[in-house]
This record gives sequence, C-alpha cells and structure tokens, in this order.
Amino acid sequence: MPKRFNWQLGRDMEYTYDGPPPARQVAYIFDTNKCIACQTCTVACKTCWTSGKGQEHIFWNNVETKPYGGYPVGWDLKLLEQSDPAQWRDGKLTSLTIFETDGAGKPPRGHRPVPDDYATPNLGEDDVTGLAELGQYFGDTHPMWMFYLARICNHCDHPACVAACPRKAVYKRPEDGIVLVDQERCRGYQECVKACPYKKVFYNIINRASEKCIGCYPRVEQGEVAFCVETCIGKIRMHGFLTTDGEPREDNPLDYIIKVRKLALPLYSQHGTGPNVYYIPPVHVPDGFLEQLFGPGVEASKQLYRNLGSDKKLLGALLLFGASNRILTRFEIQGEEAVGWDVDGQEVARVPFVEPIHHRPHYDDRYDVYRHNTA
Ligand code: SF4
Ligand code: SF4
Ligand code: SF4
Repeated sequence: MPKRFNWQLGRDMEYTYDGPPPARQVAYIFDTNKCIACQTCTVACKTCWTSGKGQEHIFWNNVETKPYGGYPVGWDLKLLEQSDPAQWRDGKLTSLTIFETDGAGKPPRGHRPVPDDYATPNLGEDDVTGLAELGQYFGDTHPMWMFYLARICNHCDHPACVAACPRKAVYKRPEDGIVLVDQERCRGYQECVKACPYKKVFYNIINRASEKCIGCYPRVEQGEVAFCVETCIGKIRMHGFLTTDGEPREDNPLDYIIKVRKLALPLYSQHGTGPNVYYIPPVHVPDGFLEQLFGPGVEASKQLYRNLGSDKKLLGALLLFGASNRILTRFEIQGEEAVGWDVDGQEVARVPFVEPIHHRPHYDDRYDVYRHNTA
C-alpha cells in the first residue's frame, strides 16, 4: 500500500490511493468560543441543498453540544471504542490510524450508523457536565462545562470515503480539494458511510445513493464563501484555502492561523484522514477532553487565545471572520485596521480593532426634537 506524509500526524501513513495534492486545499476555521448554537448555518445548508425527498434525516451541517451531543448518535464514541487510545510523542502520532488498524489492503476501520441514529439530530443540546452550586463562581477552566461543536464534511487530505468506495464514485477535486460523490457512479453500497470517521456521508433511501456536503462548490468557483459560513450569526467561521505548493504564507489568513501560529486544530486527526475543518478550542473546557478531540496542541492554542490582546497580527486575522462573503486569500494589518483581499485581488474587508463610538446629543438641532434613546 502506498505511503503518504500526513503533516497533522508528523509522519508517513498507509493510504490506499496515492495522488498529488490539490493545487490548493479548501479549509475552514471554526472558533468554538463564539458559537451560540443558533443553528442558522444548519438551516441555511438544509434549505439550500438537502430539502428533497429522502433527505429528511440529512444535515450536511450540524451543530451539536459536547460532551453529550452527537449526530448521528455516538458518531465519534463508536469509533473511539473500536480504536486504541491516540498516543502522541513530540507532536508525532505513535498509535495507528483507521487505515492501519486492520492491516494493509483492508478497508478503513469504521462503523455504519443505524437509521434511528439520525432521528435526534440535536440530542443532548445544552446539557452540562454538572450543576453549579449556589454562590459558586468559575475561573479559568470550568469545573462543569459544555460547548457547541459545528460540523461539516472536512474535505480531508486523505479521505476515508474515497479510500473505501469500491466504485471509485467518491473523488477529490484537483483544483481545490473539495470531496464529492458522483451520483451516477454510486450504487449505494454505503462503504463511504461506514468509513468516514465523522459520519459526514449520508445515504439517501429514495435515490439509493450516498451524498455529502458539496463544499458549496458553485459558490467557491465564484470566489464566494459557503452558505454555512456567510450566514453564521456568531461570525465564528472563516473559509479559504491552504497553500499546498510550498511553505505556508504568512499573509494567507488560513495558513497563518492554522499552520504558522497553530491556533486552530484539526478534529480527531488521530484517525488519519487529514481533516480540513480546524477548530479554535473552547478555553473554558478541561484539557483532557479537548486533547482527545483536538490532539496535543490544545494547551498552546488556549494560551495563544488568552494572549490575543497583545498579539495584534493574530487578533487581526480573527477580526476578519465573517467580515465578507468573499473568500479572503490575503490579509495584513494597516495601523488600527485588519484588511482582507479576495481571490481577484480586490479589497473586500476592513475591520477596525476598536469599533468607533458616536455620541449623539439628547437634543437634535436639525429636527428640533429630543432623542429619548441615545444608546
Ligand atoms: S469528512 Fe468524511 S465524508 Fe468528508 S472527506 Fe473526510 S472522510 Fe470523506
Ligand atoms: S459548505 Fe455548503 S454544502 Fe457544505 S455544509 Fe456548508 S452550506 Fe452545506
Ligand atoms: S450560525 Fe454560527 S453561531 Fe450559529 S450555530 Fe452555526 S456556527 Fe454556531
């Protein structure tokens, strides 16, 4: 079986299909500290892409409450129960990925959910790990906690869905790394559903074919961010491209946040698929739980986040989240503003570090009226 370098694991890894990396890799950053679980992203994706017959149970975008929530039910726990605990040494994974656990040439280790697992997409919403006592206050890390985890397909570097499909119906686009299912080739064997560690391929019982998040590719081709990104109320999301043909660029906001500063971390990278949704971990949650999800970089990431006030370039990059419906490919700090440019080289975002405050007088000379709400 060919070997590939997996930069998230710091080592080579067995992978069924070899191929060159895409010209650039679509990627997303989600700041879990800002998500309010309003589900606007979920509804935006659902109404646009999956409102048809056979898609009633399908949410390409979902937002679940950790630690108890999950859609489909137990998507992550069921795989973790079948796997040895992830082991890291000096940033390198020493345990086995899903491509290696069962030996060379075998399908990736996985499980296929049953239909009932899709019946409660928001099970466990807002459930906290414990009850606070009267008068108790929280400091840095909270003794009882929960947080919201927004999830879409990771458009992985080494997709398990691609590796598992006996029909070669699932493929990764060479131009941007978006992973798609060819509906004509798919025969509904659901090997991709079983293999994806994130359970982000779904079976449509009416079409008798598998389907998944299409990365909003018609929008990406126009330089626009995905619907779930544009509609995000909390502005927790950034959508763009990682550089694949050289060193990470300091002026590419995704390269900078993910690869240069390592503030945003991949989800369950120990499975080996090279996921491309990167999360800024919630700073109030204990490290033990977070390291299972986001790997060994959690503590350093939290430290960076807490120090943002004195880290102007990193803070500036974060200010550009949700600042434009155009994909940003370049950014810089100009004085007291963060500025972003799109794929066409046009300036499309300019965000001040401090929002200007305008004081309006109680009495308005021009209209000879008093303002009663001057806030
Ligand atoms: S998240 Fe799952 S469906 Fe998406 S590319 Fe990775 S393995 Fe495939
Ligand atoms: S990228 Fe597009 S298709 Fe994928 S979850 Fe977001 S809105 Fe849905
Ligand atoms: S729209 Fe944004 S803030 Fe609301 S649930 Fe989705 S990711 Fe979270």
